[in-house]
Amino acid sequence: MVSPNFYLSFRAQRGISQFCKVWDVSLDMAKTKIMIQQLRIAIQKSGRLYDDSISLLKECGIDLRNVKDRLKTESDNFPLEVFFLRDDDIPQYVEDGVADIGIVGQNVLYEKRKEAEIIEELGFGKCRLALAINRNEEYVANYLQGKRIATSYPALLQKYLDENKITAEIHEISGSVEIAPGIGLAEVICDLVSSGSTLFMNGLKEVETILESQAVLVRNKSLDKEHLELVNKLLFRIRSVKKAKRNKYILLNAPNDQLSKIFELLPGMKSPTVLPLAEEGWSSVHSVLSEDEFWEKIEQLKAAGAQGILVVPIEKMIV
Ligand code: ATP
Ligand code: MG
Repeated sequence: MVSPNFYLSFRAQRGISQFCKVWDVSLDMAKTKIMIQQLRIAIQKSGRLYDDSISLLKECGIDLRNVKDRLKTESDNFPLEVFFLRDDDIPQYVEDGVADIGIVGQNVLYEKRKEAEIIEELGFGKCRLALAINRNEEYVANYLQGKRIATSYPALLQKYLDENKITAEIHEISGSVEIAPGIGLAEVICDLVSSGSTLFMNGLKEVETILESQAVLVRNKSLDKEHLELVNKLLFRIRSVKKAKRNKYILLNAPNDQLSKIFELLPGMKSPTVLPLAEEGWSSVHSVLSEDEFWEKIEQLKAAGAQGILVVPIEKMIV
């Protein structure tokens, strides 16, 4: 639950700054506050999304003051204020405009059914909401009909049941869903799975996927122009970081008579950079390779005569 005091204090702060803006208050202190537009981002206070959310901001070049055990903090080098919250509360905060943007799992966002717009998939916190049953049971057609299903995601589960015309009893519990079959609470569970090891340890097997999920950046639907500009600035940095992670910088040496074959294998950002080596008849070729095709391309480059291949991570990629 969002603490009412915490919520009201953010609301009050927002009210004051809007009041100051309308009446052009001339007090120096107030002015400084108004002039510096800040973007407010809500991220998980602790838990599975915390480390990746903080790392992402760091990789975007945003330094945060003192993040340990804080309710909120600010950045010294980007107009960003960070609120640390339970992930369940983030969609509500973003819908209400208490936070302008937030990082949250799609599973939570869709379960809460709040008005927040997804602006970027972030590629971490990947998991799926799945149905699982006792490992020794056979999963036959209509298995779910009339069963008891334990979950922390009643809305998403109900939607799945309706879409598939299944009538089942939903038992909402807030945690440790995987023990429900073992204690006789339900025959089926609907829970988040990533590796599947928790299900395995509890004698369960996955039978249906209800939702594929990952962390997303969401924004309030009615941001003003200044805040939208800040969101776009941040988004530009996030995309550069994501792109860099998906690509590697590659350097190799090749005999000049093999260069055309090697160029065909290396699309690069525009075209490869070629520098002559001190040794006559050889060149050094530099390019960028996407992670998806990386190993396959390395094999082909070697076969085409490339030698001394170096692969270097890219920090940011601005295209
Ligand atoms: P909070 O205290 O903030 O409410 P929580 O216990 O509800 O935290 P976590 O377990 O920290 O949540 O998970 C946060 C998010 O991480 C999930 O909502 C989901 O989007 C993602 N996630 C990725 N893999 C898993 C997984 N195997 N189990 C649970 N969540 C996962
Ligand atoms: Mg939660």
